Amino acid sequence: HKRVTILGVPFLHATHKETVDILTRRIQDNKQTQVVTANPEIVMLGRQNDSYMNLLRQAGVVTPDGIGVVLASRWIGEPLPERVAGYELLHSLMAQADTYGWKYVLVGASPESCAGAAEKLKEQYPRACYGGHFDGYFTEEEEKSILEHIRRERPQLLFVALGAPRQEEWIARHLPELPVNLAMGVGGSLDVLSG
Ligand code: UDP
Repeated sequence: HKRVTILGVPFLHATHKETVDILTRRIQDNKQTQVVTANPEIVMLGRQNDSYMNLLRQAGVVTPDGIGVVLASRWIGEPLPERVAGYELLHSLMAQADTYGWKYVLVGASPESCAGAAEKLKEQYPRACYGGHFDGYFTEEEEKSILEHIRRERPQLLFVALGAPRQEEWIARHLPELPVNLAMGVGGSLDVLSG
């Protein structure tokens, strides 16, 4: 699929719906994808940090999270069709999970937000398969058991809310060893969901 590079970051040239379709197909083909919904803050973090930039360049799908990135694409004469924001993508992927019976796991945010978000998602997407939730304030020991749990559950979807850049780094480090199809950093989305 076509990409547009802005300040070194390769964005997928696709609408929200096309992005969901591409990701759905990848899940159905049992491929593994790290999704980064990159806002201007994430692009700037990449400019300041080479290893984070490498991560962005290697992520399977980077979407323009916010109008700032879409405007920048117009200025360089390679317009991206629209913003594809993390919160909305989370909901669209959950809607697909509801349709296809995919399993999802949440990692991150405060204990209250994480539990609250899990309840909301169970309510809104009852046919999606809930695979567990873990707040984002874990020790190294706890992290091991979280990873062990994910290995047992084999969810299609893993949403990680540890803030940027930590969530993207955490996903890049662990995803290759996890039986998970799609992992995405969701920033403050679990806070919003539980709110
Ligand atoms: N967070 C976490 N563990 C940490 C640091 C942050 O779980 O060690 C969570 C925090 O509770 C919040 C999310 O990560 O739910 C970060 O949200 P923020 O809005 O800061 O991220 P952004 O959307 O700016 O990436």
